[in-house]
Amino acid sequence: MKTDGTREAALNLNAETFRMLGHRLVDQLAERLAAMPRGPITRADSPSAVRSALDLNGPLPESGMDAASLLDQTTRLLFDHSLFNGHPRFFGYITSSPAPIGMLGDFLAAALNPNVGSFGLAPAATEVESQTVRWIAELIGYPAGCGGLLVSGGNMANLVCFLAARHAKPGLVYASEETHTWIQKAADISGIGAELMRWIPTDASLRMDVAALRRQLDADKAVGGVASLIIGTAGTVSTGVVDPLPEMAAICKEYGAWFHVDGAYGGFAAAVPEAPDDLRALSEADSVAVDPHKWLYAPLEAGCALVRDRELLRAAFSHHPPYYHFDEQATNFVDYGLQNSRGFRALKVWLALRQVGASGYRKMISDDIRLSRAMADAVDRHPELELMTQELSITTFRYVPEDLKRSAGSEEGERQLNAINRELLDRLQRGGEVFVSNAVIRGRYALRACIVNFHTQLADVEALPAIVARVGREVGLVKVAD
Ligand SMILES: *Cc1c(COP(=O)(O)O)cnc(C)c1O
Repeated sequence: MKTDGTREAALNLNAETFRMLGHRLVDQLAERLAAMPRGPITRADSPSAVRSALDLNGPLPESGMDAASLLDQTTRLLFDHSLFNGHPRFFGYITSSPAPIGMLGDFLAAALNPNVGSFGLAPAATEVESQTVRWIAELIGYPAGCGGLLVSGGNMANLVCFLAARHAKPGLVYASEETHTWIQKAADISGIGAELMRWIPTDASLRMDVAALRRQLDADKAVGGVASLIIGTAGTVSTGVVDPLPEMAAICKEYGAWFHVDGAYGGFAAAVPEAPDDLRALSEADSVAVDPHKWLYAPLEAGCALVRDRELLRAAFSHHPPYYHFDEQATNFVDYGLQNSRGFRALKVWLALRQVGASGYRKMISDDIRLSRAMADAVDRHPELELMTQELSITTFRYVPEDLKRSAGSEEGERQLNAINRELLDRLQRGGEVFVSNAVIRGRYALRACIVNFHTQLADVEALPAIVARVGREVGLVKVAD
């Protein structure tokens, strides 16, 4: 504090400096993003190489440094040592390329810095988020009058729905063996042990076996068990398969259970004709989780929980401590989820929805699915690759060298193929040419390419088989431990 009472805060930047730094940063980002397709997806540095490159071993600095050189240096180092899911040949996990308007939206959101816990603290942001939730529901064919909010991702969106369901109706929980691992965390957090979980097997196509579900429900009912919640998946994380949602919805009605659909990956595909019809039955669910940071291409993080009866969502999370004075007529998002202080993550999603509209999204999602099918065709045509599955925008396959073709299927042959493909995945991920992840399909180790990437072109997809086969030949035979 100076003697005249004014203050020079170390963090403050005057308008002129802020403008200069912002322009510089945007210029550098535009250049780096444009150059990204020509460079590697990753350099696959080791953790210690990353630490030394970015000088991350030192103690907390006692004094600061010039903001301009700090930003220049950090931008350069981060772009030189990161993995780029915005690269056109990034097909790993279910991680989308980020929408440029979303990048700018996050910048704008941070500048405003509203706390979207209550309407009073974030009037405009609260209403933008409410509209974003309605638009997301509309896009997937879910009732727009539902309750909902944005959260960090699919895990949290599923957890919010799970807790709302459990609050509305305690009892047994039914999920297929292909359910994403959020369910284990949700079960742990809510304290429901193995005795309340029912794992339902899948059929030959990895969809929930509804006959087995019915048998389990009847067996439980016969001894007085109450069905609380049945979970379906609209696009499983491994292969993108869609559970028989229409039959499951009917079973839920019959047994009085809450029907939750995990649409973290596939939910948005309900908007396009290329998706299986079953997927559209997510409109019948009591709650749905979707992930704007997957098929809406929002920069991380953005998940979305939707609950048909907004009062049941509110009932699960609304408490009224004496230290809050909120307008009860307005939407206060603290009442709808687990977070208290909340960022304006809706803005990047809302901007992208306005920039391209529903038709823009339908086109991008359809193109991703068509490219995935083209990839499956290209894989199928390649003599050294074996196509395993193609669903939504996920293709799974494996490398089968000529001299193992005959032993494929035998125990020893399968062990060798699993080992080769595991090693191949490792090399592909480090090589930086194309990034795929893996799946294990009925005991067989598969390579897995998922396209939620609006930068991917047909040429990228068609280049994949030759790259995989070339690296596969380099792997050669792998010694399998007994
Ligand atoms: C990705 C995914 C999740 C987890 O979502 P995050 O955003 O990673 O938290 C859950 N379920 C399914 C089906 C998914 O694909």
